[in-house]
Amino acid sequence: MHKQQGFILWLLCLLWLPLVVTAQVHHSLDVSLQPDTAGIEVRDTVTLPQGHPSSLTFALHPALKPELLGDNARLVELAQRTGDSASAGISPRHYRLDLAPGEHSFTLHYSGNIAHPLQSQGEEYARSFQETHGIISPQGVFLSGASAWYPRIDDTQLTFDLEVRLPKAWKSMSQGEYLDTRPASGSRPVEHWRASNPQQQIYLIAGPFNAWSSIDKGVTAMVLLREPDAALADKYLDATHQYIALYDALIGPYPFTKFAMVENFWETGYGMPSFTLLGSRVIRFPFILSSSYPHEILHNWWGNGVYVDYDNGNWSEGLTSYLADHLIKEQRGGGGEYRRNALQKYTDHVSREADFPLTDFRSRHSARTEAVGYGKTLMLFHMLRQQLGDAAFKQGLQHFYQQYRFRVAGFSDVQDSFATVAGEPLDDFFQQWVQRSGAPQLRISKARAEPAGHDYRLTAVIEQTQAGPAYQLIVPVAVHMDGVDQAYQTRIKLTDKQQTLSLTLPARPLQLDIDPQFDVFRRLHRNEIPPAVSQAMGAEQVLVVLANNTPAALKQAYRALALQWQQQKPGHVDIVVDSELQTLPDDRAVWLFGWHNRFRPQLNAALQAYDFAASDDKVRIAGTTLTPQTHSLAVLGRQPQSPDQALGWLAADSAAALPGLGRKLPHYGRYSYLGFAGTAPDNVLKGQWPVVNSPLSVRVLQADGAAVSFSPASLAPRQSLYKGPDTDGAYSR
Ligand SMILES: [Zn+2]
Repeated sequence: MHKQQGFILWLLCLLWLPLVVTAQVHHSLDVSLQPDTAGIEVRDTVTLPQGHPSSLTFALHPALKPELLGDNARLVELAQRTGDSASAGISPRHYRLDLAPGEHSFTLHYSGNIAHPLQSQGEEYARSFQETHGIISPQGVFLSGASAWYPRIDDTQLTFDLEVRLPKAWKSMSQGEYLDTRPASGSRPVEHWRASNPQQQIYLIAGPFNAWSSIDKGVTAMVLLREPDAALADKYLDATHQYIALYDALIGPYPFTKFAMVENFWETGYGMPSFTLLGSRVIRFPFILSSSYPHEILHNWWGNGVYVDYDNGNWSEGLTSYLADHLIKEQRGGGGEYRRNALQKYTDHVSREADFPLTDFRSRHSARTEAVGYGKTLMLFHMLRQQLGDAAFKQGLQHFYQQYRFRVAGFSDVQDSFATVAGEPLDDFFQQWVQRSGAPQLRISKARAEPAGHDYRLTAVIEQTQAGPAYQLIVPVAVHMDGVDQAYQTRIKLTDKQQTLSLTLPARPLQLDIDPQFDVFRRLHRNEIPPAVSQAMGAEQVLVVLANNTPAALKQAYRALALQWQQQKPGHVDIVVDSELQTLPDDRAVWLFGWHNRFRPQLNAALQAYDFAASDDKVRIAGTTLTPQTHSLAVLGRQPQSPDQALGWLAADSAAALPGLGRKLPHYGRYSYLGFAGTAPDNVLKGQWPVVNSPLSVRVLQADGAAVSFSPASLAPRQSLYKGPDTDGAYSR
C-alpha cells in the first residue's frame, strides 16, 4: 500500500463555473488548431432554445475578434466590465447580439492566439499545483470554459457538436460521444465530438497522442498516452470498465457513452465530464488505479452528472470521496482507519476559529478546506448511512442521481432525496451538519459495573464537551466483558450535553469504548490520535529551533527549509537558533532541526511511552536503527508540559537531502515517525505511535471489588457498502 496518495488527491478535482440553469444553447463548432503559433480559428453556429430572448450577451477571449456571418443579427462590443468571476485573469470581452425577429441561430467566425502560461496555485508547505486559463502549444492544447474560447453565454447550459481540425498525428478530447475521424485535405485529421446532454462548459484538449479503446456494455473506454505503452493502456481500459460497472450498480447508469483517461503535459488530477486529465507521473503510480482513478470516474455521477449548486456548498467532493476512496478502503477492512485519518486531519488542521460550515465550501485550496469540505462531508454521508441503514442509503443515492441528473443540486436536494426514501424529514440532521460549523467532542467518565441478579449493570456518564448546544448523535458503543471473545455492541442516542449510559449485560463488563471505529464526525481528543507530522505542520503557531552545532553548509540548508515554511505560512512560523533559547515555549508547536540540537533531551522525554531510543550517533525507532551518516528523519511527540502541542525533530544526513525532505514531509502527515535515505530522499521507514490513554476507552470500576484481568474482545466484522466481484481485478493491480 502506498501512502503518497495525499499528493494526488491534493490536485484539483473539478474545474467549475458558477451557474444558474435556464435552458440549453447548442453550439456547432468548426475548429482548426495551429499549435506552432498558438493559433485557433473557429466557426460557431449557435442555436438558441425555444423561448430564449432574441437579445443576449456573451463573453469571448480578448484575443479572439468575432465577426458575424450572415445578416440575421447585429453584434455590438460592450464597454469593458471590471472583474469577471468565472475567468479571473483573462478579462474576456463582452458582446451583445440582437437577432432579427423569428431567428433562432447565428454564426460567428473568429481566430487568434491563446497561450496562458502555467501558474502555480495553492502553495501550502510546498503542496502546489499548476493551472492555466488556456493554452495552445506544440506540447498540447488545454481549453475550458474559463478560457472563453467559444462565445460563453451567461446562465445557460449547453450542448454541442465539435469538429476539430488537428495537426498531423494529433488527437483531441472533449465531452460526450466520439463520432468519427476523417482525414481532411492535406491529411490533417478532423475529429467530431457530440455532447447531447446539458453541459456547463466545453473542453477542448488535444496533443500528439497514441490512442487505445475498448467497448463493454455500451460504454467505450479510451486511453490517450503521449508515448506508446499498450500495457499501461490495458490496465486503464480494464479498470475503467470495472469501476463503471461498480457505480452503475451502486448509483445508476453511467451518464455518458465513453470514458477516457488522457495523459496531460503537466501534473493534474482533473475530472471532466466523461474524461479525466492526469499528469504523466500520476498515471504511472500503481496505486492510482485504486485511489484517484475511481475518484475521477465517480465524478461523472457526482459533479459532472449531477451538477453542484456552489452557492450553497459543494457536496460532491465529500460524496465522491466517500464512495470511492472510503469505499475501497472499507472493502479492504480499513474503513475505521480511513475515518480516523479524516477526523485527525480535521482535528489538526481546523482550529475552532478557522472552522466553517459546509455551506461555505466551494473547492479545496488548503489542508483546512480539505478537512472540512472533503472530510466532514464524507462523514456526513457515513453518518446518514449509519442512521438509515445500507439499503435505504443506497436507495437515497439512486433517487438523488435519478432526480438530479444533468441538473444543479444543493445539500437541500440531497436531504430531500434521502428524506423521501427514509420517510422522515432529516431536517435536524442536515441542519446540524451542513449549516452549523464545528464538531462535537465526547468524553466518558464514571464507568461502573455492579452485579444485578444473574446479569451486570454498567453505568457511565457521557458528555459532549464542545462549546454551544448539544448535537443529536447516534454513537456506537462497545463493551468488553469478562470471558467473552466478542464485544457487546450497541448504539446509543445522545441528545444532551451530559447523559447517563445504562446497560444490562450478561457478563461482567471490563472496558467501555465509545465510537471505537470512528463512525461519528467529531473533534478527536489528542490521546485518540498518535502524535503525527500533521499536528506540527497544521499548528496555528510554529517555532523552528535550528542547531548551532551544525556544519555550515548543512546549517544553511536547514535555515532555507525553515524560511520556506515561514514564507508559506506568513506570520505563523518563527525561527531561532538553539544557542539563543533558554527553554522551549509551551504555547506553540516546536520543530527541533538537526542531529545536535541541544533540546534533544526534551524530545526523549516526550517519547518516553514509545519504542524510541536515541544517542549522539544513532536512533532506534520502533525496532529500526537510523544513523546521521546514512539517514534523514522526522519524529513527532507531544510536549510533556503541554500535550496539546507537538514537538517534532527533523534531521538530515546531508544538505542535499533537505529540499526533498521538505517537499515530501507534507505528504506523510499522518505518520509519527519517518526515515529517509539518500538525497531524493527515499522513504525507508514510516509508522504511527500506538494510541494510549484515550478518554473514550475506559476501564470499568467493579462496584463489588472483584479482581479482574482484562483481555480485549473483538468487534463484529463490518460489511462494506458494495461488494462486487467485478471490482477485485482493478484493485489487485
Ligand atoms: Zn474530487
